[in-house]
Amino acid sequence: MTTTCIRNAACIIAWDATNRRHAYLMGGDVAFAGDTLTYVGPKFDDAADVTIDGADMMVMPGLIDLHSHPSTEPFFRGVREEHGVPSMYMSGLYERSVAMQPDALARKAGKQVAFCEMLLSGVTSVADISGIDEGWIDIAAQSGLRVFLAPSYASARWHLENGWALKYRWDEPAGRRGLDAALALIGEAAAHPSGRLAGIVSPAQIDTCTEDLLRDSFAAAEERDVPLTVHCAQSVNEFQIMVDRHGKSPVQFARDLGILSPRTVLGHAIFIDEHSWVRWHTHTDLTTLAETGTNVAHCPSPFARYGHTLEDFGRYRRAGVNLGIGTDVAPHNVIEEMRLAAILARVSARDINTTSVSALFHAATVGGAEALGRSDIGRLAAGAKADLVLVDLGNVWMRPARDPLRSLVFTGADRAVRTVFVHGAKVMDGGRVLTMDHEAALAGVAEGQARMLRDAPTRDWAGRSADEISPLSLPVLGEGRNRN
Ligand SMILES: [Zn+2]
Repeated sequence: MTTTCIRNAACIIAWDATNRRHAYLMGGDVAFAGDTLTYVGPKFDDAADVTIDGADMMVMPGLIDLHSHPSTEPFFRGVREEHGVPSMYMSGLYERSVAMQPDALARKAGKQVAFCEMLLSGVTSVADISGIDEGWIDIAAQSGLRVFLAPSYASARWHLENGWALKYRWDEPAGRRGLDAALALIGEAAAHPSGRLAGIVSPAQIDTCTEDLLRDSFAAAEERDVPLTVHCAQSVNEFQIMVDRHGKSPVQFARDLGILSPRTVLGHAIFIDEHSWVRWHTHTDLTTLAETGTNVAHCPSPFARYGHTLEDFGRYRRAGVNLGIGTDVAPHNVIEEMRLAAILARVSARDINTTSVSALFHAATVGGAEALGRSDIGRLAAGAKADLVLVDLGNVWMRPARDPLRSLVFTGADRAVRTVFVHGAKVMDGGRVLTMDHEAALAGVAEGQARMLRDAPTRDWAGRSADEISPLSLPVLGEGRNRN
């Protein structure tokens, strides 16, 4: 077994097990053998087969992206950043997902582009919430990432007949078949020889699954001892529909169904009963999330673009809710999500002290690990998995690196991420992903996006073109040469 040692690292973000928190070790060594860390401390006295000079480097645990949709989101670059529907409380989710869907051929390239973005920005573990496509397991394994495959299924699909009312097309047998197929795939992932794949039971949304399907999904997750994730409290529309159906908030509905627990991860739990946009009469959801041990995957970007935010990250934490960080959309950049989450929490709370970079970093590492039921990732400690990131403190955006984590989160971000190891293997180095052909995947995404935009009028309720649904940010002069 090969032993690798990063010697004389300028800074290590080490796990302080006694106090259950990350702490700076200013100068030290990190060693790993095979897929496991064997030493994190001031000086590694043993010999190493491979030595890496850690001067001008910060070594930190790999980040965990707790909620992402790699199959579809890369296709919305340039499309969704400013797309929203004011008559649906600003959310563009329903209009866009009905009118624009990448095809199966494109989705393969989408996954690779998303995985490349993650590796370039220091992510080593990801929850990939996607429909089942042929070859998914192979792409996940090839990526070099630690992938938690969350095959998504539902009893209904969203459907629009106008620009304001969210409707549903129910097909309960399809939901059943989806659960069966998901459980088979989760078994396959767990048995994969790479040792880097695992599964999550993933009924798609709280509003698109029948009560029976949600209950049986939770029972299946318990039986297999894997996490369950579901979109819940992600829009005002969803909140109102759950009130219309059941007379209670989405979180109260989930609680009464018995699916809230420490193995449950809610994306995104923003519109809980006390959120200022819903004006509901109870204020119990936050306590419910904490008391049931339910985890929240917080993904600030997509919501902030609509004008929505969690109220607020710091308050959720103080209430005792475990939060992880996800990307949900492109760019798949957890470091930038940490920055946005910190800023939005302060704006929302009108209080700089509501949260901190250290709390966000905890969420993006240990918080995500806890939500996934893992105590061996998201931290640098002997015995944990060798999932680690080397950050270049000499990068111009990091200097002066008085407080390297702050420099990384507020300034450097992916520009300072030099090298990434997952499961002991080097998968990204010097801004280049070593496991996938990023260029080829980007070409596939561009072609897939063109087909998706071309077909929008056939899917949109009003037959509009993609340019009508989501106009370019600037007007186009003259005829141009490259636009049709
Ligand atoms: Zn999502």
